[in-house]
Amino acid sequence: MPPPPTLKISEIFASVQGEGLRQGQPTLFVRLTGCDLRCLFCDTKRAWKGGKRLTVEAIVRRLRRLRERFPADWVCLTGGEPLLQDIGPLAAALKREGLKIQLETNGRHDRGLDVDWLTVSPKPPSYLVRPGLCRRAAEAKIVVTRDLTFDVVLRLRNRFPKRAPLILQPQSRRKWSAAKGLRLLGRSLQAGVTNIRLMVQAHKELGLK
Ligand code: SF4
Repeated sequence: MPPPPTLKISEIFASVQGEGLRQGQPTLFVRLTGCDLRCLFCDTKRAWKGGKRLTVEAIVRRLRRLRERFPADWVCLTGGEPLLQDIGPLAAALKREGLKIQLETNGRHDRGLDVDWLTVSPKPPSYLVRPGLCRRAAEAKIVVTRDLTFDVVLRLRNRFPKRAPLILQPQSRRKWSAAKGLRLLGRSLQAGVTNIRLMVQAHKELGLK
């Protein structure tokens, strides 16, 4: 019999979701190894390489153990870029465990996975997003980099459905980035853009993982 398929995993831990509309909700995180981008501002560079190969069963076992002391009912599949690996069997196993799934992706790969909360975070310079991911996104998140322009904000706001908020997220905790985010927000409102907001990474403010 062939060995069961494995996924390359950087870390599995319990915390609160610090980003986006799910901010503050207790969440278990499964960080998958590998990314096809090399963003200069990346705050999870440790997930670009390394990691450990685990079967779906081993991942579920670890989550069960975490839930004994932190019984969160959400799990966030993140990275790196989780859609570089075949996470379909993992998602199915997590659903069998009764967990709600959030998936965070840079938007460049679509495996047609049906999850409870899809966060799409397009990245510079192309901000490429697969159309299916745009349609299914619960929220879109963009990092306020030095190069981010108002035209990109407008383009992405028009790309995602109106019901999905476009979240401007300051680059780490940089003051210049927060100030630029506020300027972009004001300009967007002046231009009649709706469902746009500026949000911090709460886990960093709280000193959490
Ligand atoms: S897409 Fe995300 S994980 Fe990949 S390099 Fe960029 S910020 Fe890092």
